[in-house]
Amino acid sequence: MSGLLFIVSAPSGAGKTTLVRHLLRREPDISLSVSTTTRKPRTGEVDGRDYRFIDEASFRAQIKTGNFLEWANVHGNYYGTSRQWIEEAGEKGIDTLLEIDWQGAEQVRKAMPDKTVGIFVLPPSLEALAARLAERGTDSPEVIQKRLLAAREEIRHAQEFEYVIINDVLETALDNLIAIVRASRLTYARQKQRHNALFTALDAANLPPLT
Ligand code: 5GP
Repeated sequence: MSGLLFIVSAPSGAGKTTLVRHLLRREPDISLSVSTTTRKPRTGEVDGRDYRFIDEASFRAQIKTGNFLEWANVHGNYYGTSRQWIEEAGEKGIDTLLEIDWQGAEQVRKAMPDKTVGIFVLPPSLEALAARLAERGTDSPEVIQKRLLAAREEIRHAQEFEYVIINDVLETALDNLIAIVRASRLTYARQKQRHNALFTALDAANLPPLT
């Protein structure tokens, strides 16, 4: 039984991190992939919990040795997903959630097409996005403008994802995210893998058709 890979992408300011935090509380049997980054830790961030913080030389060395399932440069910093982590979770049948950008999503989708479920989180409007970006501390209008442009660039890739969640009311967005997770686990192929003994027994019983 191989685990699913839920990829959640969003422009910054769409509320992705809060949504994912709530999902993991409600659906504890999903493990969150902890990315490696060259970005400096923000206040309150813990190494090994939020990210594995490393320097650029180490990151480049890990690219060379093939340690990353995917990696990308996002706004000047490098981010990558540990191949070993994903493979181990997959082998144990554990579903994993990746909070990565569209570039990473593209690479994972290509590497593991049968396992990925792509979910894109949108803000309810550009005005709401701009307001949320402006709320984030004391940044200058230029910095906010730059973030808004980057967010619009990310949004251009929403069409590459199977599902879209509009994060207007958190509770509704969360319900929708949970619905996607549950439905993805209930496809015929997944159910057959998970309940192999049942399917085999039903096959063996050679039941007459339901007419
Ligand atoms: P932040 O620095 O604000 O935590 O994240 C910035 C961006 O990097 C977000 O869009 C986030 O989804 C993305 N990101 C975080 N980890 C990874 C990763 O492992 N791979 C890729 N490709 N993007 C990541």
